Amino acid sequence: MSSLSIMDRLAAGPVLGAEGYVFELERRGYIKAGPFVPEVVLDFPGAVRELHREFLRAGADVMVALTYYAHREKLRDVGREGDLEAMNRQAVRIAREVAREGGALVAGNVCNTWAYDPDEPATRGTVRAMYAEQLGWAVEEGVDFVISETNDYLGEALIALEVIADLGLPAMVTLAPTQPDRTRDGYGYAEACRILAAEGAQVVGLNCDRGPLTMLPLITEIRERVDCAVAVQPVPYRTDAAAPTMETLRAPDGQRAFPIALDSFGCTRFEMSDFALQARALGADYVGICCGAGPHHVRAMAEALGREVPASKYSPSMDLHPMFRADVAAKDAAFLNTWVG
Ligand SMILES: [Zn+2]
Repeated sequence: MSSLSIMDRLAAGPVLGAEGYVFELERRGYIKAGPFVPEVVLDFPGAVRELHREFLRAGADVMVALTYYAHREKLRDVGREGDLEAMNRQAVRIAREVAREGGALVAGNVCNTWAYDPDEPATRGTVRAMYAEQLGWAVEEGVDFVISETNDYLGEALIALEVIADLGLPAMVTLAPTQPDRTRDGYGYAEACRILAAEGAQVVGLNCDRGPLTMLPLITEIRERVDCAVAVQPVPYRTDAAAPTMETLRAPDGQRAFPIALDSFGCTRFEMSDFALQARALGADYVGICCGAGPHHVRAMAEALGREVPASKYSPSMDLHPMFRADVAAKDAAFLNTWVG
């Protein structure tokens, strides 16, 4: 574990987060879209290690253990309930191993379970048991804090917060802003964050589903309502007023783009570096990125925040490009007009 705690780091300035492991490893052929269960942790641990390392080199301050959807309900769907404990333990071990290479923190990770139903009180116990077993293993393997994320229900987020607090760890609890303005159980996003903060979450905010343009206005409201640290981790997709979430984006032919045809909506690294600056200006303390993230986005965000990171060694130098350099050779300069388009 790292010597500087998450609270120390938040106090010192924005903490840079990097997530979207499930989307990226799906894209690389290691996770099945649909169930999105991180079987890769056991089947191809090297692929997980590599992506952690790429985010670390790009400047991520936190290695988030890939236990997203590694809970009982989801593993049952793919017939791997028997691998539950091994998958959770291994995910934390891999995150720790890579975090140590660069002084990053390790976060345990839980998410919405799909088992919670606010109208069925019995589901509270089911959800609590799922979180308790996942986080119990995470604590034994060694995590610095826990991220509970993509919460659709404030009620479910509060259960995660209780379990994390019982384990004595700092909690970052973020909501998935999939609905126009409130959680599925009817709380405005800022109000839900206020409640989470009042119940003891050290960091509250939003992650996933919305791109920077449609997530930042909600962050402004949240920042006004809470005194604790605020997290913002959008998806790098161009959501807008007409399609405020990645789930609502439609391709020109009208087909739903989510979740595996979003490529043409992707934000450039420049858009994500602009986002990082805007988030910091709004007073966000944990600035990150979610599904769709690539290491190039993370490095651009880190550099926008004024950092030089290991991967900066290979940051762009277009002044060395044969066609863009100042002293472009005469034989190449003759063709510059064809690059104008
Ligand atoms: Zn996401």
